[in-house]
Amino acid sequence: LDTAFPDARTALHDTFGFSAFRGVQEQVVARVLHGQSTLAVMPTGAGKSLTYQLPAVMLRGTCIVVSPLIALMHDQLRSASANGIRAATLTSADSDRMATMDAFRAGELDLLYIAPERASQPHFRELLSSAPIALFAIDEAHCVSEWGHDFRPDYRLLRPLLDAFPDVPRLALTATADRHTRADILSQLGIPEDGLIVAGFDRPNIRYAIRPRDNALRQLKGILQEHPGPGVIYAPTRAKVEQLAEALAATGRRVLPYHAGLDPAVRARNQAAFVASEDMVMVATVAFGMGIDKPDVRFVAHAGVPKSIEAYYQETGRAGRDGDPSMAVMLWGADDFARARQRLTEVDEHRRASERQRLDALAALVETAQCRRAILLRHFGEHPPETCGNCDNCLEPVAVTDATEVARKLLSA
Ligand code: ADP
Ligand code: MG
Repeated sequence: LDTAFPDARTALHDTFGFSAFRGVQEQVVARVLHGQSTLAVMPTGAGKSLTYQLPAVMLRGTCIVVSPLIALMHDQLRSASANGIRAATLTSADSDRMATMDAFRAGELDLLYIAPERASQPHFRELLSSAPIALFAIDEAHCVSEWGHDFRPDYRLLRPLLDAFPDVPRLALTATADRHTRADILSQLGIPEDGLIVAGFDRPNIRYAIRPRDNALRQLKGILQEHPGPGVIYAPTRAKVEQLAEALAATGRRVLPYHAGLDPAVRARNQAAFVASEDMVMVATVAFGMGIDKPDVRFVAHAGVPKSIEAYYQETGRAGRDGDPSMAVMLWGADDFARARQRLTEVDEHRRASERQRLDALAALVETAQCRRAILLRHFGEHPPETCGNCDNCLEPVAVTDATEVARKLLSA
């Protein structure tokens, strides 16, 4: 895990231009990179494609993607190619099948999209035996189940093919599967029960608070006092990490630093100490956290604004994986946003618009007088209630005059 993840982060950034995984993407990708078969149930828009496209780029061999509709395949093909991923379809509608098969045999494809009926063709099985396969990804996997809302008998042809390659991991993906359907998909596709990962974006046990930063050290000391359990403080630079870790350790709390500039042995030691601890605080850059399994993190604090709303969600999401009450506190300053906007000018032109959008979304989250959770979940395409009762704005609504002031500022921006 620890060796694969820096690479996964690099590939995520270099191939897709994303700064962080969303929701359970990280867990799903980790399983796939470890060769573990998985069923991921993730809402539409959650980013299911990435969970096989990223491993497809990283792993040796081709990822075979099963998709029910040629139109869907072509959408995928376009977006994959736009990211420089080598992808092709092999369907009856394709006139260049010979060239595609040659490319597969030559190991020149990251992704090969097929319709389920192809799975039963002896020719196709022979083809697959002629070059390494990294992964079988089964999109719209609910189609395999009669419990599902869109049963397709052709999906039942997949199992013999999958079983002919027992060493190749399987990744089944769907947005819509109730309990029955999930169990059925697992058994139909031969995925172990513990391979089920279900996403929803809401993390109701995390209390969100976003505060202006006046004196970061004093504010962080206050947070440490309120939260005796394990916590992570994200700081923007290595120097800031070192400085805060030292200052906070002076309070008597066990505090260690973590960033990519530390000796790998020190990094590993600090990480192991944190994972084992019940009260330690890790002050870290965003290099810390990915693929680290510590369910009882009680708070995540940001000493400065994260890169994007996705990064914020990802990083705060490391709190409270055990479901117990946890806290996410962000301390922000206007200078953070000024610096981020400055960084935008250095971004590739074709990415600038989307990066700006993500930054604006983060600014809106920071500035809002409305429910933080509602803003966050809406960003991920959900339709949450207006208030959550577990964020600073719901618990301590600002005076109406202040809210009007904020609204005016937003409108004039
Ligand atoms: P799904 O198949 O779950 O409906 P997609 O794979 O089509 O979702 O992804 C939905 C959108 O989310 C795409 O525009 C994709 O580029 C974007 N996306 C996926 N992962 C991330 C991420 N980690 N950060 C930002 N955007 C992402
Ligand atoms: Mg999809």
